[in-house]
Amino acid sequence: MSFGIDDLPVRDELRGKSPYGAPQLDVPVRLNTNENPYPLPDALVERIAERVREAARDLNRYPDRDAVALRTALAGYLTDTGAHEVSLANVWAANGSNEVIQQLLQTFGGPGRTALGFEPSYSMHSLIARSTGTGWISGPRDDDFTIDVAAAEAAIAAHRPDVVFITTPNNPTGTAVPRETVLALYEAAQAAKPSMVVLDEAYVEFSHGASLLPLLEGRPHLVVSRTMSKAFGAAGLRLGYLAAHPAVVDAVQLVRLPYHLSAVTQATALAALEHTDTLLGYVEQLKSERDRLVTELRTLGYDVVESDANFVQFGRFDGAAGSHAAWQRILDRGVLVRDNGIPGWLRVSAGTPQENDAFLDAVRELKKEEHSA
Ligand SMILES: *Cc1c(COP(=O)(O)O)cnc(C)c1O
Repeated sequence: MSFGIDDLPVRDELRGKSPYGAPQLDVPVRLNTNENPYPLPDALVERIAERVREAARDLNRYPDRDAVALRTALAGYLTDTGAHEVSLANVWAANGSNEVIQQLLQTFGGPGRTALGFEPSYSMHSLIARSTGTGWISGPRDDDFTIDVAAAEAAIAAHRPDVVFITTPNNPTGTAVPRETVLALYEAAQAAKPSMVVLDEAYVEFSHGASLLPLLEGRPHLVVSRTMSKAFGAAGLRLGYLAAHPAVVDAVQLVRLPYHLSAVTQATALAALEHTDTLLGYVEQLKSERDRLVTELRTLGYDVVESDANFVQFGRFDGAAGSHAAWQRILDRGVLVRDNGIPGWLRVSAGTPQENDAFLDAVRELKKEEHSA
């Protein structure tokens, strides 16, 4: 046997674990990580080059530690699109919303504390909890993947978590959480502890409904987390951000590494924000493609979970073995979708119309085989 991780004195909770990540396979149609399929437009690529060129001369210096220009631009974007006035003091940015979540758990979680999420949901919440020494509590979801308010309130009352995650729209199911549910869970979390409630709105730009950003008013324990990875089509940029009471922004600065956000990242994100209108135009196309996937999958006879995100969860296959076999047969036709380990279900991201056609052809053949079997 070769020398491996478990031969090192790693922390107990990391023993026997494998790193997170979807398979990165080189196939023609990749619809497995909820990326935006559209490359950045030429005008934006030019603007990024310009802004990065300007920033490059000053790379002998540390970047703006507080990312003031970028946070101001993000606040402007949220104010323009979120029906709620947000300013620099309300916004914090980091390398992807994963880092935002990590900073939140370093600040409000940690050893001796717990975080709760309603599963199935975004598995990075529990993984970041583990890596920050925060205990994880799996909260309930109904069979249709909605959150039952009474059951959720009971879980919060029983476990009194320090942090509650509500992912809306939820990944991997696409389910939006109604405003009234979020309000009820916020109240439950305050009665229990009080605890921080993190709304992960990574996909909110794709939603049929509005952002819950206005709920920040008068709720200092609420945090709305966002990302440029999905709607802005900039997963490679690594830029996530949050909006919250200014005290929350002050608190996360206790744990952030100094100069965590490079000057190149700040310059690139500022350039992308200048092109918000163009990028949100792609979002509109993706929303209609998402709706088309829902309709056509249902026509083919699949069960489809109502989606407010840029992906669709469909099934049902015969348990975990059935969804894995279907995943493989779709892959055999050159289309990579995601098996999130939810028995009987697979998730497909909305791609370009051509990519979605290729996917629909693949699942149509799957149905035919099923019927002739
Ligand atoms: C993709 C995703 C994110 C984004 O993570 P980044 O680090 O910003 O790329 C956050 N939350 C959820 C639920 C996601 O699916």
